[in-house]
Amino acid sequence: VDLRLLRQIHAQRRAIVGFSIYNLEQGLAVVRAAEAEGVPVILQAGASAFRYSGREPLARLAQGLAESTGVPVGIHLDHARDLAQIDACLRLGYTSVMFDGSPLPIEQNIRLTREVVARAHLAGAWVEAELAGIAGDEDESAVKHAGALTDPDVAAGFVAATGVDALAVAVGNVHGIPDVPVSIDLQLLERIAGKVSVPLVLHGASALADTEVVAAIDLGVAKLNINSELRRAFRDALSASSRREHAGDDIAGILEPVIHAMQCVAQDKLRAFTAPRVPASANGG
Ligand SMILES: [Zn+2]
Repeated sequence: VDLRLLRQIHAQRRAIVGFSIYNLEQGLAVVRAAEAEGVPVILQAGASAFRYSGREPLARLAQGLAESTGVPVGIHLDHARDLAQIDACLRLGYTSVMFDGSPLPIEQNIRLTREVVARAHLAGAWVEAELAGIAGDEDESAVKHAGALTDPDVAAGFVAATGVDALAVAVGNVHGIPDVPVSIDLQLLERIAGKVSVPLVLHGASALADTEVVAAIDLGVAKLNINSELRRAFRDALSASSRREHAGDDIAGILEPVIHAMQCVAQDKLRAFTAPRVPASANGG
């Protein structure tokens, strides 16, 4: 999934979904879902998964999955701040990286994001960045605090100063699936989209109602991140599958229903969020 495809999706007011993956089973589920729906998809293989699997094995796994299918599959590094990590992933063939300088002072965020943009573009990859912090831990399902919201004017200045290709916004979205209902500020999103021409990215889409996500896509969100729902499907299906009578120790027999359960979840998301929509104007798109 190169920059040209991302921009095309954005221009058509559609979205691509980035699913976080930690293992082969999740990767298979996501790629099968994309094949079944006939849409591009992004595998997000990131630092927390590297701690578990090692960077190179997971990167090569994602690449192998991408090469095994006819649908476009991007490989994305989510929430990175370590330039050595970013370099390593670019060398391993990642098609995009996210530099998350949101906790840094803005000048430092701009300087480092520019540096990442330069390195990534040399490698043929595109860059997503973030300004205000999106609440919640990207690797936890529980949400602990609320973050600051993205300011439209600051966002416009940031995109112009960094040359970044996509911008993750904080409009009330949170990582994970919190106990309390979450709603995003669509008016703020519209104001950001009015000032920022690059595709916007919505993290924490798991926690939102589908109708809200669709409204966000219509306003210019072109990439969504989904993590918690696949994790939960994995956990619940694995628990049921391994407790089945006669499950024994047949690993493939235990995991096949788990892959299927995750594929169903991924396919639901792709169907809800990636379908072509009627443009606002007759000649739009
Ligand atoms: Zn995130």
